[in-house]
Amino acid sequence: MKKKKKKVNPNCPVPGCNAKAPHTSDPIIKALVQNMADPAKIAQWTLGAIAEIGKSMAADLAADRRFALLTRSRQQEELYIRALYAMFIATPDEVTHIMSDALPNSFSAMYKKVNQSIFGGKGLLDVVQPGLTFGTFSAMAQINSAAHASFSTMMQVIVLGPNAEYLKPFKDGAYFHHISIYCSYLNNIQKMFKAGKTKAEVLTQLIDWHLPKNLQAAQSAVAAGRAKKLTGI
Ligand SMILES: [Zn+2]
Repeated sequence: MKKKKKKVNPNCPVPGCNAKAPHTSDPIIKALVQNMADPAKIAQWTLGAIAEIGKSMAADLAADRRFALLTRSRQQEELYIRALYAMFIATPDEVTHIMSDALPNSFSAMYKKVNQSIFGGKGLLDVVQPGLTFGTFSAMAQINSAAHASFSTMMQVIVLGPNAEYLKPFKDGAYFHHISIYCSYLNNIQKMFKAGKTKAEVLTQLIDWHLPKNLQAAQSAVAAGRAKKLTGI
């Protein structure tokens, strides 16, 4: 990547943003930024969105809408990663930029930072996650391909059929356990913020939850049938 010194855009300091006016001059973005200044709300709204998409995916699975099912997989990861980024890593200016949906708005760039600062470099998309890996594709490649409704995703669905191996984690519940862990963590983050914990305190706890052994334990616990108790939804 070339490193050029560019003039900072007075409307938004995020490198590469071409905003012609401050993002908050749009009343909708302004309201969004005001709401999202409260990290408990970011956690709460994201939890609601992930839970809703999860229910939609479960309904797609039950109805054998495999293409619809796969195309949602990135949304779940993206919602979680963006929420963590907005709560714990982004500066206030960056949060405003993110809320505006203006470019650049790269999921993989945010993922890299979240992976580094929160997942200890052992990110969820670098290790095998149920339902997110397929053949030689990495989890990131797989979910990007699915999110763009690509031909390779169509190929998986049409050629491989309803009994393909990649559907196993959806059918045996492992994928939905993985999603309910996200919900559980967001729910706990929300509660901690509401109880007055600082960002640093919540972040320390979050980093601990994301240690591979703790994630594994959470996955086993959910698999053991405690999903409802953990997510509180
Ligand atoms: Zn911007």
